[in-house]
Amino acid sequence: MPVPKNWVSIEVKELEDLPCLRYAEKPERASSWRLLKERVVEAGICSHCGTCTVCPVDLIILEDRPVDFDPKKGCMGCGVCVAVCPRYNYSPLNGVGEYIEASAGKSKRFTGQDGAMVTEFMATALEMGEIEVALFVARDEMFRPYIVHVRSSDELLNTRITGTKYSYAPVMPELHRIIKRYDSIGFVGTPCMISGIRKLQQKIPLYKKKVRLAVGLFCTENFYWHQLYDYLKERGADLKNAVKTDITKGNFIVTFKDGSEFTIPVKEMEEIVPDGCHVCQDFSAVEADVSIGSVGSDPGFSTVLIRRENAKKIFDYMIEKGYVETGKAKMKIVQRLCDFKVKIHPYPPKEEGPENSEGTQ
Ligand SMILES: Cc1cc2nc3c(=O)[nH]c(=O)nc-3n(C[C@H](O)[C@H](O)[C@H](O)COP(=O)(O)OP(=O)(O)OC[C@H]3O[C@@H](n4cnc5c(N)ncnc54)[C@H](O)[C@@H]3O)c2cc1C
Ligand code: SF4
Ligand code: SF4
Ligand code: SF4
Repeated sequence: MPVPKNWVSIEVKELEDLPCLRYAEKPERASSWRLLKERVVEAGICSHCGTCTVCPVDLIILEDRPVDFDPKKGCMGCGVCVAVCPRYNYSPLNGVGEYIEASAGKSKRFTGQDGAMVTEFMATALEMGEIEVALFVARDEMFRPYIVHVRSSDELLNTRITGTKYSYAPVMPELHRIIKRYDSIGFVGTPCMISGIRKLQQKIPLYKKKVRLAVGLFCTENFYWHQLYDYLKERGADLKNAVKTDITKGNFIVTFKDGSEFTIPVKEMEEIVPDGCHVCQDFSAVEADVSIGSVGSDPGFSTVLIRRENAKKIFDYMIEKGYVETGKAKMKIVQRLCDFKVKIHPYPPKEEGPENSEGTQ
């Protein structure tokens, strides 16, 4: 198995705390990736969070299909992918989690999925100098997600950058790509991605130092983009003509350019919900600095759970500046959705899971 020429420098400079240093002296342990393949991907519990793409030799491939491994590249057995994978030795997180403050919020400056509070958090953090870049999930004309680097709040007036895309998005590979380029980074992601961030921060000092704000989205399920696209198109809804997708009161709703809507019950879409989401119980992103979602506040508002002091500082600043309108968050509803996710996604999975009869919001 060829060892890449640059592997020593990568490990010594960036990965000093990792088990890879122990394994580095034994490059014959060149099959660590098999642990991920067998115990996570083939076991059907991979969340597609992309954390493992930190692989120093780019052996792990994250595309719009289950995680794969490039047979042309040699695994050096460093163990990094296993060390950072939140689903290796999986023990599901769940519940509302700890928070300092709960509020409903609506940005007066931006248009987003709900109250644009995710966008407002990143814009305010940029303005305060807390971060120098934020990674956002934008969409192309087919509603396919791609990642953009946002460096000034003006860029967030583009509504293709804000808003929810119900598809796995490659935020993590992009974070790995830019981690050396910027000193302070804002990250937005689904709860599984936030768990990936925390694992990276535990294991690799560079991520602890540089990821300064981790915004978690409430989440019940997600889809591969191509499966979602084909599924909706077969039923007469072409995402090419869509301006918004939403899941509300158990229905998946597509809004088109001409103002018309297509609605389908989420429970009918079960067949395209990937296995990794079926074992996920974290609705509220319990490990985030701040968690933001739709349920628990009135239409046009986002529910905001401030969990850590860095997020509190940004929230207080945006209120002081008058950037947001606030209201009361209905925490009983958030709690109910957290409980519901545990109920519909038992782990270890039951032979035949209970029917998702409530939908997501
Ligand atoms: C897959 C998915 C499932 C969700 N399910 C629920 C749910 O069941 N109940 C609920 O209350 N809320 C859910 N949400 C959250 C909700 O849709 C809104 O994102 C949230 O209310 C914030 O709205 P906002 O107006 O503040 O966000 P905005 O200000 O519009 O910002 C949206 C942010 O989301 C990011 N983003 C968009 N798509 C993705 C993606 N696929 N992966 C990672 N980041 C993305 C964008 O980068 C942007 O930063 C879900 C979100 C996603 C991505
Ligand atoms: S991170 Fe290390 S152990 Fe995992 S696939 Fe890459 S080289 Fe192999
Ligand atoms: S759960 Fe995340 S880190 Fe683990 S194998 Fe899947 S994509 Fe990689
Ligand atoms: S349900 Fe959401 S948080 Fe859980 S694995 Fe799927 S995308 Fe990730």
